[in-house]
Amino acid sequence: MSVANEEERLLEVFRSGVWGGYSPAVKDFETRFAGYLSAAHCITMANGTVSLEVALHCEGIGPGDEVIVPPYTFLATASAVLRAGALPVFADIQPDTLNLDPARFEAAITERTRAVIPVHFGGHPADMDAICGIARRHGLVVIEDAAHAHGGKYRDRMLGSIGDWGSFSFQQSKIMTAGEGGCLVTNDPERAARARAFCNQGRKEGGAWYDHYTLGTNLRLTGFQAAVLLAQLDRLEADTERRRANIELLRAELSGVVALTPLTPAPYCGRHAGALFLARFHEAAAVLSRNDFAAALRARNVPWVQTYPRPAYANPLFEKEPFRDTGCPVAEQACREVVTFPLPLLNGSAADTVAMAAAIRSIAQNR
Ligand SMILES: *Cc1c(COP(=O)(O)O)cnc(C)c1O
Repeated sequence: MSVANEEERLLEVFRSGVWGGYSPAVKDFETRFAGYLSAAHCITMANGTVSLEVALHCEGIGPGDEVIVPPYTFLATASAVLRAGALPVFADIQPDTLNLDPARFEAAITERTRAVIPVHFGGHPADMDAICGIARRHGLVVIEDAAHAHGGKYRDRMLGSIGDWGSFSFQQSKIMTAGEGGCLVTNDPERAARARAFCNQGRKEGGAWYDHYTLGTNLRLTGFQAAVLLAQLDRLEADTERRRANIELLRAELSGVVALTPLTPAPYCGRHAGALFLARFHEAAAVLSRNDFAAALRARNVPWVQTYPRPAYANPLFEKEPFRDTGCPVAEQACREVVTFPLPLLNGSAADTVAMAAAIRSIAQNR
């Protein structure tokens, strides 16, 4: 993959001398990313953790409120709720997609519930029709955690553009990356204005530098980051199509392996974003343990990353912080069984992918 385009665009920003959040590259990226998602507004910011925090802040969610989150996710989905002063309520996931189970979400709703944060885990869409329908009936805000989902689709709709807010991360391990970075996407001009003001010291759009109207902070993305992201946005469609095809290829190539079952996309998966390739490892049917399987993958240079060792609520953090666990056996089982292959496994050519599948197959079948 060429980085020439990134280098050219970085140099352009460098030579312009305007490096901060007021670089035209930032506005350009916001306009183009919103356009790509068919969303009205994109507000860039420092990372995909504060983007969740800003969305909760803009909804006025705080002490006494509850926000429903899945437990099989990166900690930020839940810690953002704590940072808002609200109570994270963990509702279990579906075994087939590892995403929030709509029925478990609905069962976890109380009179204090204000919002839900579905995660499109690994790039597979959460069941947005079901989740948004339940949220609408109960008057809840939907914040999509789309940190894994750039370019993915729920049926024909772009992930991150479906809920009241979509939150993206541009951290190093994500589909699009500027090292760090994030954004919020929304179709609501008032929500967009609140988020933009909060990230920019309470300024108004078009207002003077020293005129501040509301309490905010500085969370602006830099021009350098926007330059890199613009170059990647040019390639996102082609990259996503290649990963989607490679996921299908891997599923076919691994279909006969008894010890390893790749997850099957749901009928509403319009397009897998391909942030992760996920499979269940059945130790009882395998010739080696999941740990030995991982070690063997590493030895054969098959891209592999550690899976979440525990549901988010089982982190030591929650010995000190409040939460409600509504019982999440499916997430607990996923933590024991799932193996996770990162982006580099999916980014190669078809021939690369077939070779990787052969390596995975031989490790899963022979010691
Ligand atoms: C990476 C990630 C985040 C946080 O993004 P950062 O940019 O690293 O702060 C939030 N949610 C999920 C599901 C993530 O994977």
